[in-house]
Amino acid sequence: MHNNQLIAGVQSKAEGWSPQQVLAWAFDTFGNKVAISSAFGTEGMALIDMASRLRTDFRVFTLDTEFLFPETYSLMETIESRYEIKIERVVSQFSPEEQEREYGAALWARDPDHCCNLRKVEPLRRKLNELGAWITSIRRDQTSFRKDARKIEWDAKFGLVKVNPIADWSSNQVWRYLLEHGVPYNPLHDRDYPSIGCTHCTRAIQPGEDPRAGRWSGTSKTECGLHLIEVQPLAATAGTKA
Ligand code: SF4
Repeated sequence: MHNNQLIAGVQSKAEGWSPQQVLAWAFDTFGNKVAISSAFGTEGMALIDMASRLRTDFRVFTLDTEFLFPETYSLMETIESRYEIKIERVVSQFSPEEQEREYGAALWARDPDHCCNLRKVEPLRRKLNELGAWITSIRRDQTSFRKDARKIEWDAKFGLVKVNPIADWSSNQVWRYLLEHGVPYNPLHDRDYPSIGCTHCTRAIQPGEDPRAGRWSGTSKTECGLHLIEVQPLAATAGTKA
């Protein structure tokens, strides 16, 4: 079945599904060709916990920029032991030292889009090439780029199905899930870091600031480029990975 038929059959129905139902559909449809993509924010932690209650052999990958906080690396170890999974760590083809030799010091400060391309977008593209679908933890109210995300959609940028099980959740719903289920989370959240990325590009926020104000602070950048997609009409989608 072509992906456009596959998606057309479920896209509208899925909007009424719970996150667990969306996850179950993804696992049943794609088997080991689907993986959760996570940087282990609160939303990703909720999804990982939900997935663990549906099956034991689910896949999780992360884009390890090699610039993450020690707290994030420590959380990754906690996840691996608590859920008995091995996180697939995807790194850039350039080590931090090679990047500096090739493009100069502190590329993130001079050209963050280029740095994100090298350390996130290109590695993601490489990873997605081996999958038929990826599961993300984006929510519609996080940024203007995410407001039209469907729970199941065709990702024209990367050429595979994209599954967003908690697209319609609020941050409060995510927190409620974490606390009710005793899910581990990054301790930086308790120190005014609602959104956590690389050390170079993340700061704590001040009272009243937007939750994502601490990402690429002082620049107009709001996204690393992973979710900057134009979702094409179903008729235009014709992938064959499913
Ligand atoms: S978030 Fe900053 S340091 Fe991390 S890849 Fe993007 S620009 Fe580079």
